[in-house]
Amino acid sequence: MFTQYNSMKPATQFIHAGAHPDPTTGAIMTPIFQTSTYVQEAPATHKGYEYARSQNPTRTALEEALAIIEHGKFGLAFSSGVAATDAVIKLLNPGDEVICANDMYGGTYRLFTKVFERFGIVFKPVDTTNAEHVAATITANTKLVWLETPTNPLMNITDIQAVAAITKKHNLILVVDNTFASPALQNPLDLGADIVMHSATKYLGGHSDVIQGALVMNSAELREKLYFIQKSCGAVPGPMDCFLVLRGIKTLGVRMKAHCENGAIIAHWLRNHPKVAKVYWPGFEDHPGHAAAKKQMRDFGGMISFELKNDSVDEVKRVLSKTHLFSLAESLGGVESLINHPASMTHASIPREERLKNGLRDSLIRLSVGIEDAEDLIHDLDQAIG
Ligand SMILES: *Cc1c(COP(=O)(O)O)cnc(C)c1O
Repeated sequence: MFTQYNSMKPATQFIHAGAHPDPTTGAIMTPIFQTSTYVQEAPATHKGYEYARSQNPTRTALEEALAIIEHGKFGLAFSSGVAATDAVIKLLNPGDEVICANDMYGGTYRLFTKVFERFGIVFKPVDTTNAEHVAATITANTKLVWLETPTNPLMNITDIQAVAAITKKHNLILVVDNTFASPALQNPLDLGADIVMHSATKYLGGHSDVIQGALVMNSAELREKLYFIQKSCGAVPGPMDCFLVLRGIKTLGVRMKAHCENGAIIAHWLRNHPKVAKVYWPGFEDHPGHAAAKKQMRDFGGMISFELKNDSVDEVKRVLSKTHLFSLAESLGGVESLINHPASMTHASIPREERLKNGLRDSLIRLSVGIEDAEDLIHDLDQAIG
């Protein structure tokens, strides 16, 4: 079904994936099928659509697009990124163990430790940037490995192929949260992952106007199980949200190119700034994950974290309150630049001692570099850092 897409470059896939003119009108854009149910000709005789929690044509188009752009066979869309994560963990049973990254999105950490641990699922956070740590943590109960690369917010890079070699040997499900890289920069299924997870809220949507999640996989068996969970638990996105993400995906290629260009300029500028102590960005040759990033990513992205030499929280707050173009907000991946304080915002749900143990300091500042003019962005940061 998707063979014609295999020969296309990503930028072409982003525009054409899942796009079929509407058979009744010829509308080039997939309509927003704002309906909850579908009329049946006779009991159980219908056109493949019965009830919109199970199927909606706008969602079907999006799910096809997601599969194509992530080089998988099947896509599933969810009402949020954490709903997609939730569905994956519901593949497991009490007593099963998950090995996960020790530096990951705070909401993923919260879902794992505050919700699923109560249901008897065991989570073992390790430094996945060293695949040997993953191998050493496997027990007879391990069922799944959860990776995020680059990580949020420290930009750690895990070599997906190295971990996939281990999960294949032990018959474990390998999941990669590909939110930060987006399919424009990285395709984990090509590197041996079994499931790719996205917060489509971020780069896929791209315009900070929708909350959505996605899963993509190649295995029909996994797809069947995850579709069953999707319709049984009901965390499905509405048709308007599916339309917005479908539209967002069309410009993913040009947007990511601009995010990466601006990201590189700002990372280098920050690194040379006399008041900046450390910049976390995988494009630097001395970043510990640079070689792995170069191997598995097409470019290094627009997410950057940094620390000031004066690392008092007051100084950090002063800088955060002074930017104009960089809006102080959670989230990332939109066309506009955002600035965020992980310790009190996106990662506040991780206990402080846990954060510090993993290198996330109270003074860390995270940037989601947008696609404005780089000179204007630098000017804004310059007057804020002072
Ligand atoms: C935002 C985010 C999530 C959660 O997605 P939501 O759409 O907010 O539910 C998961 N992983 C990463 C890396 C994120 O940035």
